[in-house]
Amino acid sequence: MRAWFPDDAACLDYLEWLRWPEGFVCPQCKGAGRWRMADGRFWCAGCRRRLSVTGGTIFHRTRPPLTVWFEAAWRATSAKNGVSAKTLHRLLGFGSYQTAWAMLHRFRTAMVRPGRESLTGTVEVDETFIGGIKSGKRGRGALGKTLVAVAVEILSPKGLGRCRLRIIPNAQVPALRSFLLDGVAPGSRIVTDGLRSYPPATLKDYLHQPVPVARSRGPAPMSLPGVHRVASLLKRWLLGTHQGAVEADHLQGYLDEFAFRFNRRRSEFRGLLFRRLLEQAVRVGPITYRSLVVNPTPKRQKPLPPLEPRVGPASLEINPKELHPWRKYNP
Ligand SMILES: [Zn+2]
Repeated sequence: MRAWFPDDAACLDYLEWLRWPEGFVCPQCKGAGRWRMADGRFWCAGCRRRLSVTGGTIFHRTRPPLTVWFEAAWRATSAKNGVSAKTLHRLLGFGSYQTAWAMLHRFRTAMVRPGRESLTGTVEVDETFIGGIKSGKRGRGALGKTLVAVAVEILSPKGLGRCRLRIIPNAQVPALRSFLLDGVAPGSRIVTDGLRSYPPATLKDYLHQPVPVARSRGPAPMSLPGVHRVASLLKRWLLGTHQGAVEADHLQGYLDEFAFRFNRRRSEFRGLLFRRLLEQAVRVGPITYRSLVVNPTPKRQKPLPPLEPRVGPASLEINPKELHPWRKYNP
């Protein structure tokens, strides 16, 4: 990791390689001509704009050095269960807890691939409450009970495919129907319990197959084993890796990270996960700290854009053996 990415210039080249696999394309005028300026930015030959590789990405106007971002991305993708902000802060010995938290949350926004493919085939769908977890914290922001819709592809009697997770305001027809239309391809077979919202939510777009479940007796794992498996893994992950310290306002980010990880759980190469994450990170728009923090605490200041060169912690320093090794490969 550190031999490949010893400094920000190497990280920047890697992001450039991911962002413009076919060569530079101006995001404004779509021209391909450009000059490289001394500070690493580009000057578009078509519209004369100055552009940087990180402009318009999740790294836009952020303070931590790219080497720290890369280290965070590596920690988040190489560990089986990812990493919590608290652990990341301790590992990097850099910035504050808020810095580590905001970095991970920016990456979470990059975990939802725009235009990703819908689930297909046989899909189990159910709702589950997340929360009621003792967080020791009361009042605003504490995770009460939040309703989450869960959908998962059933590949064989025991095999699960990809999943989708989303916070829904209630289990009524419009919320469930919009969840289905966004994440499940029309024509799929939807397996649910007997909740009365599902027949009108599936209508003619899906083959609906209700299975009898006594809802009053709580969760019945045997009737919808797929969604119950996903829901219990999710709850264990929130309690384990994140120790239940997830606020309702930010839960969707954690759901996205869980799905990103779950849907790539058979990926043999952790390095590929890292690449996918950074690939998506240079394709989603910039995120302000304020937009991450739904309820910003007044005393917390928004991080300032970097004015001086980004300075990394000594723990990340290393001497490179080979410059830009990824250039040997096709993106
Ligand atoms: Zn241009």
